[in-house]
Amino acid sequence: MNILALTFSDCVDDMRRRYDKSRFYAVPLYREVFKNGSTRFAALPEFAKVPALVEALVRDVRLPACRIAAQQEEDGVIKFATRLADGHHVESVVIPARGRTTLCVSSQVGCRMGCVFCATGGMGFVRDLHAEEIVWQVYAARFMLKQPVDNLVFMGMGEPLDNIEAVLQAVRVISDQHGLDIACSHITLSTAGHVEGLRKLGAANLPTLRLAVSLHAADDAIRTRLMPLNRRYPLARLKEALRAFPLGKKGVLFVEVVLLAGVNDSQEDADLMIEYLRDLPVRINLIAYNPGGADGFVAPSDKQVRQFRDWLVAAGLFARIRPSRGQGVRAACGQLAAAPRA
Ligand code: SF4
Repeated sequence: MNILALTFSDCVDDMRRRYDKSRFYAVPLYREVFKNGSTRFAALPEFAKVPALVEALVRDVRLPACRIAAQQEEDGVIKFATRLADGHHVESVVIPARGRTTLCVSSQVGCRMGCVFCATGGMGFVRDLHAEEIVWQVYAARFMLKQPVDNLVFMGMGEPLDNIEAVLQAVRVISDQHGLDIACSHITLSTAGHVEGLRKLGAANLPTLRLAVSLHAADDAIRTRLMPLNRRYPLARLKEALRAFPLGKKGVLFVEVVLLAGVNDSQEDADLMIEYLRDLPVRINLIAYNPGGADGFVAPSDKQVRQFRDWLVAAGLFARIRPSRGQGVRAACGQLAAAPRA
């Protein structure tokens, strides 16, 4: 039983199908794994009279063969590398801030989107993560690193909408109240603008899940230079998809903009962005570039970043500057890559 890939309801079904046992036994099994981070079922009082079931569970219930291969910390930010069963690595970052603890998870080994300012993009695509490998990152942060993760962002390695089925199952497991219980309203999927994935996500019936889109530029030529995906899904198609996306009750779309000096930080760039976003319910997060991707990019000055924000705000948009943390351990946005650095 691949337990980290299962919602509670899947677990109840498995319990019945495999062992002909009721929900009564699925409750302690699920609780022990997801609330206590343990697979020591024999000690649970609910199983005292069913030793044969305990024996079967000990034999069948499997966590993914992942382990934390490296871990670095700076200013409370913890970056850890997970070694997957096949020897590949992905990175995750724990970010404590303002009374909440956010975990940034990876959804793929590498990424096929190739954004030029991103270290993961430079790796190319290796493979999709399975649902349980995504869930494992939360499990590891909670039970191995003992971090009280209560907020999740899919902003690590990979484009989550390029691995939509596994990501959706992982979200269902992570948000399950019987288990890890991180509400969908505390989970953000971040996409580079994968229009086909947006359509599938919109149909997934997870209305409180939060969506972030990396825009970076509202000019097709600049955006294509930064994000090759823009060739396949240019700005006009992306906007159509965003307009059609069911944003749920809150109705807020987060827009991420990495600012690169002399590339996308001028007043003309801001004006185009204002025009593009004007009729969408957006909150814009501005992030100064973190060195990590292709050579030749530099971050704008703090003054220029503030100026860019002020242009957006003056036009009536909600925009704020997001400080980057964890740069010293290469844990900031765009800096995650596959090799564990001890
Ligand atoms: S920024 Fe995101 S989508 Fe773009 S290459 Fe990096 S991981 Fe992939």
